[in-house]
Amino acid sequence: MKELEEYIRRFGTVKEGNVLKVDAFLNHQCDVALFDRMGEEWARLFAGKPVDKILTIEASGIGIACVAARHFNNVPVVFAKKYQSINLDGEQYATSIHSFTKQKDFHVIVAKKFLNAGEHVLLVDDFLANGCALNGLIEICEAAGAVVEGIGIAIEKGFQDGGASLRERGYDLQSLAIVDAMDPATGEIEFR
Ligand code: 5GP
Repeated sequence: MKELEEYIRRFGTVKEGNVLKVDAFLNHQCDVALFDRMGEEWARLFAGKPVDKILTIEASGIGIACVAARHFNNVPVVFAKKYQSINLDGEQYATSIHSFTKQKDFHVIVAKKFLNAGEHVLLVDDFLANGCALNGLIEICEAAGAVVEGIGIAIEKGFQDGGASLRERGYDLQSLAIVDAMDPATGEIEFR
């Protein structure tokens, strides 16, 4: 999506440690008109797929997932919640995810009542790096018996492993912008 690439070039900053900061329109301040066009693009890319629900992870996935849902017949959006520690009471699907940006592990949970066997799910997130967040969401879908119809990502960092491994496993992964290289010294960003 050329427009998203332009936003990234214009407003993004490249940090040490392979982190791209896009606080100006995605991760802190939210450009909802852009989110709307991203939702429209995912709807085009996933046209014909049955989608009963969108599943994302807090916090930054929530905004884009909610706006995207407007383009998928207003299906419900469920977000996996992050906790430092949890008491499992059997009413939740739970897994643990290593956070790329915070460099620590989180427990994530989804209440069983919000994800059901046989439901067709679209996974949405802001970034794809090594794939830990998505693998956690996939694990939760598998535990629920829900079907992952596709994965919509705003920004994939193509030089990290997550995207290649999810595509190899057969997932329909659609990233709106794929960064192939970025340089914290010059701020240069190359797209695929
Ligand atoms: P993964 O789990 O694929 O390694 O990393 C994806 C998650 O980490 C996303 O949910 C996102 O919040 C965060 N993340 C990974 N890389 C970046 C990045 O370069 N910039 C920002 N802002 N978040 C990132």
